[in-house]
Amino acid sequence: MNSIKDKVIVITGASSGLGEATARLLATKGARLVLAARRLERLQQLAADIIKAGGQAIAVKTDVSNRSEVDNLIKTAQKQFAAVDVLFANAGIMPQAPLYKVQVDEWDNMIDVNIKGVLYSIAAVLPIMRERRAGHIINMSSVAGLKVASGRATVYSATKFAVKAISEGLREEVAEEGIRVTCLYPGAIQTELVNSINDKESRAAVQAFYDSYGNISADAVARAVVYALEQPTDVAINDISIRPSRQV
Ligand code: NDP
Repeated sequence: MNSIKDKVIVITGASSGLGEATARLLATKGARLVLAARRLERLQQLAADIIKAGGQAIAVKTDVSNRSEVDNLIKTAQKQFAAVDVLFANAGIMPQAPLYKVQVDEWDNMIDVNIKGVLYSIAAVLPIMRERRAGHIINMSSVAGLKVASGRATVYSATKFAVKAISEGLREEVAEEGIRVTCLYPGAIQTELVNSINDKESRAAVQAFYDSYGNISADAVARAVVYALEQPTDVAINDISIRPSRQV
C-alpha cells in the first residue's frame, strides 16, 4: 500500500463540498494539504481545523480560471512544503440552464472554471512531476461527463466530457513517466453546487433530482480518492464513478 502520510496534496475547490470532505479525510492520513478556492475565510477555517487536529495545511486564495493565480498556488505549495506530489483538480461550477435561454456568460464561466481551471492546474504541476518522474493527478469529471442527462445540462456536460478527454489524453502521455492519472465521475451528492444554478426552473429540477436519490455523503468521494492514492505505484486507478445506489 502506498502511504498518504507526508504527501503534498493540492486540492482546488477545497472550500466546500467534495473538496473539503477529501481534505478532511486526507488530513487524518497525514497528508500535507494545500487548500485552494476563492473563499479564503472558508479555507482558513478548514486549515485551522486540520492543524488543531494535529494535521498540516495551508490556505491559498485561488481563482482557477486565472492562470497566474494557479501558478502562484503551485509556487506557494513548493515554497511551503518543497514538493507537490498530488494535484486534485476538483474546483467546478454548474450553472445549468437550457441552451435556448442563451446564458452565454454562464457557458463562458463553466468553460473557464471546469475546463481551463483543470488545464491551468495541470500546466502548473506537470513540469514538476515530469522532472521528478513521479506524481498523481486526479481530475473531477461527473456522471454528466459520461452521458448528457437532461436538456439543461448540455454545457456542464460538455465541460465534464472535456475533463474525461483531458484525463485520458494526459494518462496516455505520462504513463511511462511515473505519473498516474485518475478521473472521478460522481453522481448526485448534495453539496453547495446547486447554489451555482441561477435559472430558477433548472435549480428546482436539480434539487428534486438530488432529493430523489437521498443524500449520500461527500465522504464517498473522499474515500475514492484515498483508494486511488493508496495503490502501489505500479497500479493506476484511472476511472472511478461513485453514485447513490439508486441513481440510474
Ligand atoms: P461545491 O459548490 O460545494 O464546491 C465547489 C468548489 O469549487 C468550491 O470549493 C468553490 O470554492 C470552488 N470553485 C468554484 N469556482 C472556482 C474558481 N473559479 N476558482 C477556484 N475554486 C472555485 O460543489 P461540489 O463539491 O459538489 O463540487 C466539486 C466538484 O465536483 C465540481 O467540479 C463539480 O462539478 C463536481 N461534481 C459534483 C457532483 C455533485 O453531485 N455534488 C457530481 C459530479 C461532479 P469558491 O466558491 O470558494 O471558489
